[in-house]
Amino acid sequence: MKPAAKNSLTPLPMKARMKVPRQLMPEQPANERNKNFSEVNLGYSPELAQQEALRCLECAKPTCTVNCPVGVKVKEFVELIVAGDFLGAAAKIREDNVLPAVTGRVCPQEDHCEGKCLLSKKVKPLGVGYLERFVADYEQRMGTHVLPNVPPTGKKVAVVGSGPSGLTVAGDLIQKGHKVRVFEALHELGGVLVYGIPEFRLPKHIIRQQLDYMRRMGVEFETNVVVGRTVTLDELMQEEGYDAVYIGTGAGLPQFMGIPGEHLNGVYSANEFLTRINLMKAYKFPAYDEPMLDLNGKDVAVIGGGNTALDAIRSALRLGARKAYVLYRRSEAEMPARAEEVHHARQEGIDFQMLTAPVELLSDGKGWMTGARCVRMELGEPDAQGRRRPIPLSGSEFDLPLSVAIMAIGTTANPIVQSTTPGLGTNKRGYIQADSETQRTTRQGVFAGGDIVTGAATVILAMGAGRRAARSIHDYLTTGQW
Ligand SMILES: Cc1cc2nc3c(=O)[nH]c(=O)nc-3n(C[C@H](O)[C@H](O)[C@H](O)COP(=O)(O)OP(=O)(O)OC[C@H]3O[C@@H](n4cnc5c(N)ncnc54)[C@H](O)[C@@H]3O)c2cc1C
Repeated sequence: MKPAAKNSLTPLPMKARMKVPRQLMPEQPANERNKNFSEVNLGYSPELAQQEALRCLECAKPTCTVNCPVGVKVKEFVELIVAGDFLGAAAKIREDNVLPAVTGRVCPQEDHCEGKCLLSKKVKPLGVGYLERFVADYEQRMGTHVLPNVPPTGKKVAVVGSGPSGLTVAGDLIQKGHKVRVFEALHELGGVLVYGIPEFRLPKHIIRQQLDYMRRMGVEFETNVVVGRTVTLDELMQEEGYDAVYIGTGAGLPQFMGIPGEHLNGVYSANEFLTRINLMKAYKFPAYDEPMLDLNGKDVAVIGGGNTALDAIRSALRLGARKAYVLYRRSEAEMPARAEEVHHARQEGIDFQMLTAPVELLSDGKGWMTGARCVRMELGEPDAQGRRRPIPLSGSEFDLPLSVAIMAIGTTANPIVQSTTPGLGTNKRGYIQADSETQRTTRQGVFAGGDIVTGAATVILAMGAGRRAARSIHDYLTTGQW
């Protein structure tokens, strides 16, 4: 396809920029989208993108870039949008971010670029995420990715795990001329981006396009390889000749509350629930049938307040749930989910029961769950992380009838690689120890980053770790110094 004719706009005087309202993201109407898995946000048109880009104040010291874990040059790519050079803008983002169509959709911009945007002192911040998504999608439609052309170094790097941190390492190192092979335990590539985040927020074709681009750059992928079982990390280095290894295995082991009744039929971890929807294709109903997820007419609750919780409950609603509750033990101010997802979930009809936690899951006596006994909470003093601690209110117990409860209270490290790699240091929670600047582990030639080091965090933080790791792997491979 030929790129659209350039439509360069003249930048506005500073004061006028503040007067342009933030351009709304077109979206599917809430009462339609809560019955399908198609994407909620529909994306900016070129006209909307340019109007939004005109709002940028072009700060001398752009705090948006400083606060981006991968350092995307926001001011520069936004200027290119104003100038009508959308492909140039995409190329500018790609200098720092190998997954712009992903981060444009799921990054918690309010905590990074948009949270620090100078505009937000007076009006709404620049829609950096929406603009990033626009140019990434535009570039994809035009099919004009520029492939890097670098001489091979003869060095080989193994990347364990194909989530955003592993993909970032692979994308950065292939551009330095190293041979890169990604080993993935599952049959699908993409980590949480594919098996966790649902189609209505991050369509799978977006990940596939990014993966195709990486393949064309020369990255090799091998699925169904559980490092630590199929092959050990030592075998990769000593027998298969990898000069360095990056571990980006995520934190996918679900946690449960330890309350009575969690063994009952109808209780899922969010991880299992979302994996069934995403990888067993329940989201393509009625073409694919996943009988365990026939939620028609059932009352469903998710326990938790993060992105995972909202993804699970919004999916349950789309699969036919009659009532769909979020049970969260703190208040909305403490919810870790992205602000946009909370807003969308409310519009779709999710019932938020704040300051509420289950203490027992109730049974019909035949092994099936019939409800949750809950208590109301109040917030006390801040805990070690600075979040106010929930305290049960005595006498506040009540029973909520439910057929399905989904636990989304957090995940932890899967121990397979750590337990099969002698000398690889871990902390007391089982996460891999890695230097926060270089991502080096306690084993020479082995680097780690993303959720397997920090615990469950965000896509952009995992990518930031991947970038730092790629830089230090390159240093290690080119200088030989550890
Ligand atoms: C449902 C859900 C929604 C989320 N929504 C958001 C959001 O909107 N915004 C946001 O910023 N963050 C979100 N997050 C968090 C974000 O997805 C993670 O922080 C991020 O994916 C971590 O990236 P990672 O590369 O470290 O690990 P992962 O994405 O977990 O990828 C790790 C990969 O390693 C593979 N693996 C594990 N062990 C092995 C092994 N032994 N051998 C080979 N491969 C292995 C796994 O199968 C997986 O594919 C969400 C998380 C979940 C679960």
